[in-house]
Amino acid sequence: MNIKVHRGLDQIGGCITEIWTTTSRVFIDVGRNLPGCGELSTPKEEEQLVESIFASNKKKYEAVFYSHGHEDHVGLFTYIPKGVDQHMSEGTKVLLDIKYSILLDAACKQVEELQKIDGYDEEYSLAMSQLADADNKIKHLNHIDIWQRTPPRQEPKPIVVGDIKVTPFFNSHSIYDSHMFLIEADGKRIWHTGDYREHGYMGKGLFPTLRKYATDIDVLITEGTMLKREDKCIHEREVSRKMASVMQAFKYVFVLASATDIERLAAIKEAANSAKKPLCVCSLFMKKTMEFFTEKESKLSKGLFSFVPLFYSDKLFGKLKRKGFTMVVGPSQLDRVLELKDKLPEEETLLIYSVWNGYYKLQEQIDITPKYLQFHDMFQNVVDIHTSGHADKATIKKVIETVKPKEVIFIHKEADAKL
Ligand SMILES: [Zn+2]
Repeated sequence: MNIKVHRGLDQIGGCITEIWTTTSRVFIDVGRNLPGCGELSTPKEEEQLVESIFASNKKKYEAVFYSHGHEDHVGLFTYIPKGVDQHMSEGTKVLLDIKYSILLDAACKQVEELQKIDGYDEEYSLAMSQLADADNKIKHLNHIDIWQRTPPRQEPKPIVVGDIKVTPFFNSHSIYDSHMFLIEADGKRIWHTGDYREHGYMGKGLFPTLRKYATDIDVLITEGTMLKREDKCIHEREVSRKMASVMQAFKYVFVLASATDIERLAAIKEAANSAKKPLCVCSLFMKKTMEFFTEKESKLSKGLFSFVPLFYSDKLFGKLKRKGFTMVVGPSQLDRVLELKDKLPEEETLLIYSVWNGYYKLQEQIDITPKYLQFHDMFQNVVDIHTSGHADKATIKKVIETVKPKEVIFIHKEADAKL
């Protein structure tokens, strides 16, 4: 078995790993470069990159596996040549489908609105291209095969690509239904971690899974996002506890968080419950992901991943003003939140900033997405409460000691990062 890391050895994100035998090959992730990490390319350049990777080293049996639904792992899926099978977890596909369907609806509405106005200007052609992009993504997504998460106490089943066997294993990351992989061929065994951590609610299965299945591993390919940081990451439970304690002190609490991060949403919900503040959302994306998480995970998690938020509308304003609330919001709801916040007393209103702080602290990130900083600056009372979606250095060390591979390859890391 041969391995080539096309991207990811010296950058966080944009991961593409190819593994092949004489007759078969698989790719783990075909991701887009993250803003500020690696070269930013145009869609045309990205398409050419994927084309050139797939044009060389061709094999009879070929497939792509996606570890999870973040752009830097799945972002280039529309460029994969026809005839190459693509696989992702059920949850990954549903989350992407929710995202693109909402974008498609929004673009359709905007095109309709702009058609009522005379003239074909820049705004109109932008809306048309957004519509075409979302439509294209949904069409491609429909052709992707899914695997189901292995139910508790059952053996995970491999997916066979020629003479390569790929077995996905559920793990904890800052997006739902993320997976690691065991790749077997030619009597060799490779373990690819994808992005992972132990300090999430779903992270307690990490070491039991590795001890049971990551045995006799020849090569361990692990992410190393946090290699340059010495500090230990706090558990999601601690995130929740910190949130609950600040929520007590403010009547109106907004929490900036990701709609696809089931564990963070649970941490927020638990905190809101203990602070006795009704949980609200004001975006359709957040509403739909919460519905999906509840449907899939409520029972198995004994209610931890059960969400019944109020969907905010102006009609609810009076009631919520009286009672107080916790509202989970994403960066795209900036205008909506500004409007609502202006009707509330400043001294009783708090923003819990619960995403990566680099989005508002690093100039290159602010240049690309200024909304995080705008959110942060919009509130007089702000507190950062967050923990990483990635394994800290101590966990990476423990993973290597547990797996005891013959070789380790670090990907998804900064160029000069070392263990
Ligand atoms: Zn990720």
